[in-house]
Amino acid sequence: AKVAGKNCFRFYSRAMDRAVERRVHLEHELRGAWERGELSLVYQPVFRVADRALVGAEALLRWRHPQRGAIAPSVFIDVAEQSGLIETLGPQVLGAACADAALWQARAGAPAPFVAVNLSPRQLRSGDLPAVVADCLQRSGLRPERLHLELTETAVMGDEASAGRLLSQLRASGVKVWLDDFGTGFSGLSHLRRVPVDGVKIDRSFVADILRDPDDLALTTAIIAMAHSLGMTVVAEGVEKEGQYALLRERGCNLAQGYWLGHPLPAQEFARLLG
Ligand code: C2E
Ligand code: CA
Ligand code: CA
Ligand code: CA
Repeated sequence: AKVAGKNCFRFYSRAMDRAVERRVHLEHELRGAWERGELSLVYQPVFRVADRALVGAEALLRWRHPQRGAIAPSVFIDVAEQSGLIETLGPQVLGAACADAALWQARAGAPAPFVAVNLSPRQLRSGDLPAVVADCLQRSGLRPERLHLELTETAVMGDEASAGRLLSQLRASGVKVWLDDFGTGFSGLSHLRRVPVDGVKIDRSFVADILRDPDDLALTTAIIAMAHSLGMTVVAEGVEKEGQYALLRERGCNLAQGYWLGHPLPAQEFARLLG
């Protein structure tokens, strides 16, 4: 048993080494990837549920590695966050998203679409976020209300007071703030009263099951009612079926996105949807 244990340990530690090594590699390769043109943004359309009007898009980062091909954002965003690379990458993403959105013209009569940009916890804590946002808006000419910032529950947890001040400051400048992946954190609904946000995005793990799991439907319905009672807007993400969309509409959900409505697209292709 001792021998096996020892071998086990050796195997485990070699596997660990490899994982660490891979992260170090990725970190090294991610450095300068933006400048080398390996990173790009795609835009997933967001629709108003009541009439399925196209009202905006969420910017999602893509990394096409020259040898390894596409690397999942869940992997490289984490590397960027842990290594601190996000401090340069975050503002680059924000600047590019604002520049793209500034070019989007709306159909006659309709307001121009917004762009929603994901912010990582570290960007929130970096201190210069309001200045970065103001700079991106100024350089692009994008009106503040067309920029939406998405932050996760966990990013604002812990130090709610300072997060609250920061979010209030951002909202005072006109940008909108969304709580992303809502329902997956530990804070839950009571938290919402203390965090000044414009709305919540219901996590796609709830939306995925609303047609067959009564608990997920009950939760989704409760989130919508609760957010509305606080004057907030609700976005559903991960809508993959018509039935999910119909149910969300019946429950009064405001906005929605997902593969059934539209896949993420390069900026020019998204612009073509605007007609
Ligand atoms: P997220 O913010 O929850 O983004 C939504 C994810 O769901 C995206 O995955 C999107 O492609 C995917 N998705 C959209 N519709 C559907 C659907 O109908 N079904 C399913 N199963 N999935 C759908 P993606 O692009 O792989 O991004 C993963 C996560 O990476 C994002 O989750 C976000 O947390 C992070 N991320 C992506 N881009 C950025 C960025 O520019 N900055 C930061 N900080 N994080 C980013
Ligand atoms: Ca998001
Ligand atoms: Ca989300
Ligand atoms: Ca479930």
